[in-house]
Formats: sequence, C-alpha cells, structure tokens
Amino acid sequence: MNLVSTVIGYPYIGENREWKRTVEAFWKDNISEEQFLNTMKSLRMKHLKDQQALGLELLTVGDFTFYDRMLDHAAMFGMVPSRYNWLEKKVTLPTYYAMSRGAKDVVACEMTKWFNTNYHYIVPEYENDQPLRLTTNYILDYFNEAKEDLGLITKPTIIGPYTFVQLAKGYDLKSKASFYLKLLPLYVEILKELVNAGAEWIQMEEPALVLSLSEEDIKLVQQIYKQLSEEVPSAKIMLQTYFEGLSAYEEITKLPVAGIGLDFSHGKNENMDSLRKFGFPEEKVIGIGIVNGRDIWRANLAEKATDIEAILSLIKANKAWIQSSCNLQHVPVTTQSESKLEPTLKNALSFANEKIVEITNLAAYVLDDVWEGKKSVSESMLATNALADHPGRKNLQVKKLVAQLKPENFTRPMPYKKRQAIQQSTLQLPDFPTTTIGSFPQSDEVKQKRKQWRNEEISDAEYEAFVKKETERWITIQEEIGLDVLVHGEFERTDMVEYFGEKLSGFAFTENAWVVSYGSRCVKPPIIYGDVEWSSPMTLKEVKEAQRLTSKPVKGMLTGPVTILNWSFVRDDISDEQVANQIALALREEIKALEDAGISIIQVDEPALREGLPLRQEKRNSYLEWSINAFKLTTSSVKNETQIHTHMCYCEFNDFIGPIRSLDADVISIETSRSHGELIRSLKKNPYDLGIGLGVYDIHSPRVPSIEEIDTILKDSSEVISRKQFWVNPDCGLKTRGEKETIASLKHMVASAKKLRYQEQMI
Ligand code: GLN
Ligand code: ZN
Repeated sequence: MNLVSTVIGYPYIGENREWKRTVEAFWKDNISEEQFLNTMKSLRMKHLKDQQALGLELLTVGDFTFYDRMLDHAAMFGMVPSRYNWLEKKVTLPTYYAMSRGAKDVVACEMTKWFNTNYHYIVPEYENDQPLRLTTNYILDYFNEAKEDLGLITKPTIIGPYTFVQLAKGYDLKSKASFYLKLLPLYVEILKELVNAGAEWIQMEEPALVLSLSEEDIKLVQQIYKQLSEEVPSAKIMLQTYFEGLSAYEEITKLPVAGIGLDFSHGKNENMDSLRKFGFPEEKVIGIGIVNGRDIWRANLAEKATDIEAILSLIKANKAWIQSSCNLQHVPVTTQSESKLEPTLKNALSFANEKIVEITNLAAYVLDDVWEGKKSVSESMLATNALADHPGRKNLQVKKLVAQLKPENFTRPMPYKKRQAIQQSTLQLPDFPTTTIGSFPQSDEVKQKRKQWRNEEISDAEYEAFVKKETERWITIQEEIGLDVLVHGEFERTDMVEYFGEKLSGFAFTENAWVVSYGSRCVKPPIIYGDVEWSSPMTLKEVKEAQRLTSKPVKGMLTGPVTILNWSFVRDDISDEQVANQIALALREEIKALEDAGISIIQVDEPALREGLPLRQEKRNSYLEWSINAFKLTTSSVKNETQIHTHMCYCEFNDFIGPIRSLDADVISIETSRSHGELIRSLKKNPYDLGIGLGVYDIHSPRVPSIEEIDTILKDSSEVISRKQFWVNPDCGLKTRGEKETIASLKHMVASAKKLRYQEQMI
C-alpha cells in the first residue's frame, strides 16, 4: 500500500497574520507594489517550507490569494465587469482591489458566504457579450516558483469549472452554455501549461458537487470532465470534493479523472455507504479526507485509523491519499502560539499544523504500525478523554434547564399585529424610522485604549471612562444626524461573539487563533468547550448610560445564540441544538436585565443563522427548526411592549424569507446593497408583513452614497414593503468605517428618509 499525506490547502494568513498586515499596508500606500509582491512571495515560500518541515509529502500551491481565490479566478479569466473600465491586458492590482472593495466611483463586486462556512468569497460576474481570455496563469506561476526556488513538484489547485460557474452570477439558462463554451478552453489552457511545466497532479476543487445534483447537472459535469480529459489527456486530475458526502457518488466516481477526493469527516456516513454499495474504481486514487478541516479538536487517531482501514478494505487500488477533509484555511495556524490556555484544553486542540502532523502520523500508523504512529495514537486518546472529563462539561443545573424546556418557552404570547400596535403607542416612532445596526467606528484611539487595558497598562476605571466618553460623543452625533432609534455604539466590544463569550461560562479564548472571514478581515472565534451559563449582566451598563443621555430609544444590543454558536468552535460531545439552547437561556437572562432597566428595544443579531444551513436540502429542516427555536427561546420571554429587532447580512436571502418570518422578530434589518436588489425580487414573490429595513448602503466601502442614490433604493424597497413596516438603516454595523464618512453617509440616509416621510404625508 502506498499512502501519500497531503492537504487540500493551507492557511495563507500566516502565524501572526503577516499576510493581512501586508495587504493592508499596501492599501494604505505604506509599501510599494514591489514590496507587496515580494512579501507575498516570501509568505508563500515560508508556508510551503513549514508544511514540508511538518512531514507533509505532497504540497499544494494555488491555495494562496491576494484577497479571494474566486476573485483570482475571475481575474485570470478576464471576467472584469464593465463598470471597472478595465482596458489593460492584465488585471492590475488597483482593478483587482476595486473589484474586491469598491473604489471612488464604483461599487465592489458582491460578496457571499462560501458554502456553509464563515468565509466569504467575491461572486464572479459574467457579462453576456464579454469575451473571456486567460489574462495570466497565476497557478502556473506559483507552481514554477515552488519548483525553481524550493525544488518541489507541488500539486497546483484550481477551483473547478462546475463550481466556478455555479457560484458566478449574470447568466441565465440560455447564456450558461456560451459561458461554458468560453470558459472551458481557458481551463484546458491552464491544464496544458501546468502539465508542460512538469505538474504531476492537479487538484480541481469541486465542492459544488456535494450539493443536491439534478440529472441535468450530472450530465453537465460529465461533459465538462470529458472535454477536459480529451483535450488534456496527460493531466492527472484529483477531483476534490468537500463539506459533505456525494449524493451522485456513482456518477462522479466514474468521471474520467485520475483521482477523487472525498470528505470522510462531514460526509462520512454517506460516502461510506456509497463506497460499500458502489465500490471505488480500481484505476483511480482515492483522497481520504479524514482529518476534519473545519473544527479545532484533536482527532482520536485510533478511531480515524479504524475508519481509514475500513475504507482501504473496500478499495482495490494500492494507492491512497490521507488528507484533510477540506482546505485548512478554516482553522488557525498552530496551537503553539497559545500560551494561556489551560493544559487539558490546549492538549485537546489541533489547528492546521497539528492537523498536518495528525495526517502524517495516521499515514505512518496505518502503513507500518510504527512506534511513532502508535505513540501518537495513544496520546490522542488520552487528550480527548481528558477533555471529556473536564468539570466545565458537568454543569447539572444548566443541563436540567435545557432538558425541561416546554413549547411555550419558544413563543411570544401575543401575535405580531397586536404587539405592533402596543409598541407603536409606547414608542411613538415616525414613519420610516431610521436607525443603525449597532457599532460605530472603532477608531485607532478606541483600539489603542482597549489594547492598553488588556495589557493592564490602564485601569478598568480609565478604560470604562473612555468608553463612556466615546458613547456620549456618539449619542450627541446621532441626535445631530437626526436618527430615530439610537445605539450605544459597541465601543466596548472588539468582536460581537468574543465579547459575550468572555462573560459567559463554557468559553475559552485564544491569543492568536485567527481565521479569515473575508478579504483581509480575520476573526478569532472563541472555543465553546463547556456548558454555557449566565452569571451577571453583560451589556447593561453601557446601554443604560447611553439611554440616560437621550430621550430617544436606545437599542439593547446582543448577539443571537445561533450566531454565537456558528462563529465559535463548538464542542462536539453534545448536539449543536443543546449548545444553542444553553446560550439562549443565558441571553434570556440578559434580556430580562435590559427590560428591567427600562430598555424598550432589544436587537438580537443573527448574521450567521443562514450560513449554518446544511448544504443538503434533506438536512435543512431540522437545522432550521432548532436554530429558529433557539432565537425564539432567547426573545420570547419579553413584554408585549418590548420591540425585538434582529439583523442579518451577506448571505443568500432568496430562499430565506420563510425562515426569517418564523423568527417572529418585530423588526429585521437586512443587508441589501451587495446582493444588488435580488432580495427585493424575492420579497416581491414572498411578501413580508413584519417590520423590515433593507440596508441602503454598503458599509464595506468608504464611499459616501448621495441622497439621490438612497432615494432610489428607498423607492425600490417601497415597492415591496408597506409604509407601516418600513425601516431605514445601513447594510451592517459601522465599526470598520471612518468617522467622517459615517456621519456624511448617515446624514444622507436621514435626509432621504425624511423626504419619503414628507412625500408620503403629501399623498
Ligand atoms: N451589531 C453588530 C454591529 O453593528 C452587527 C454586526 C454584524 O451584523 N455582523 O457590528
Ligand atoms: Zn451585518
């Protein structure tokens, strides 16, 4: 048996987020293009060398990017939308970054979640009459540099044509054929160039193959791979699938490619069943995605080895790859950067580097049963057992509360229409009320002070006084702008999940465990390792202080249970539903504290609810049921007078109006500008009868929208939302924006809402 260790991809951000710093320094003009390119190259080389030093045999290139890999592919194919006035032969960095972030007079491309992860990619836009061409073959460049500088024959990775087109926008059924017609020759060219340069294996990532495929889809995939294999017969393609098992296993494994990579972590049961039923083609190499690339838990290697042996016993070939279940970019780089975690927990964690070691150990163990392998297996068992016995997992009180929940704990006693009347009579808001999503700019000063406080350079009192002053300043600013429902600004929070996790039991925090969320933005998800419990108010002080300063309502601001769960690394010994209900019960206490203090509007953000939706249709209902219930458990104990808001952003809302309705939140604010009106179309089909605000401008861009621009957006929204339900707000929180542009944009927003209010009164 020949077992090769490899991964599907490795994190590009670097152990200390060197990548992010370089990208942002370039944006700020602090480094030249040459310096930027050189640093990026040295990072690529370092990452390859690091993986090699960990013992990984087959290394991957092409898993690197300057912003996002889908965008890299679009740029490689010359798919630059006409609004960028792109005239050059190559896509220059300014054009590339205009597409990703917007520029002065041009909006960015749409951004959305990568399958069910918290990574966001740039959606390629296809324009019908646009000719496509290979502007560059950057994958080849990466292959060559590894070969020349390090003497390595690597495995280049490309996002496959089926997934690329599936995730792109701008074509309909008719133009899809011509899109493929233009695109496939470019893939052929890329493959040919790679083969000519000496590439042995080429990884084609096709995660879209794990979705539910129709017969037509399958036919299309067959045609694509037939054409590629006929035109470049010498290319050894590893067709890589991940995030789920394959529903069309039989057809996919018959495609004319040299290898098939399967996810035996998230798709374990389904892929195992298919493997038993249909076998695996003898002439192909199987990629066994055994080490979970989505979680941070150390694997029990004995169990994994048994799984691998079961798989190997079902295949006839004598060659297999032992690999991660997906790209390791979804986990942090190494647990070695963590110095403050308690030993039991730290020892039960595994990030990218540790996962690579797990992979190489597994290969060694299964192959030879060697001592090194055996030792790693028994160590992994000890570590995982020790975590299972952790006292933090044995809070009987919390477990009992969750077990005793009853249906009435999950619904508000009064239906929306009646609540609305009561709320309106107490809140007395004008028509088209204006508000924001919660956070205001986290200026350098805010970040600096928090850092000093964390490092114990300033006292609690000094830090709190600073946050209070900043809150006061922004209450005044909001009043001057003329907003109707105010917020305290969230200056005390770095992150909307971390902030709550630090105050609840059951959470652990890392120093350096960053993962990319989108572009250069990284997040440091907390680890939920134990039972979650509320002990004292988490948000009360700041919100109360803000409310004292104004006669306008100030919204209480919480992160919802499903978002806390989806944006954390979560224990895997109890169900997600149980964890979500534990968090919901804790947040319920917080809401009660806010209500008791006289706060009449409470927002419970759930931006991550949609992204947790399983990729497969058949698994969706059960997820929706427990996640919506967790939100309702959080919010349904309030008084009829209390107005519950929620917020969602950056995801596919098309099929989501129904679930949003089921949350029974009095008001929802939704990001709209990056999905270019698609939401409006879907609201036309599924009318919405609760309070709703469709974001009027993109907060990812420093651009200030004009009043006229916002007028148009409000006018479009008014076609699908009645006056009584209509709220006016930006797309999302404003913490990444500058103060000046924030104030200017919000002034325009309020002016536009006032115009509408006035016009409506005239009619
Ligand atoms: N209240 C949060 C904020 O304003 C919401 C952020 C989000 O939706 N991602 O930052
Ligand atoms: Zn948002």
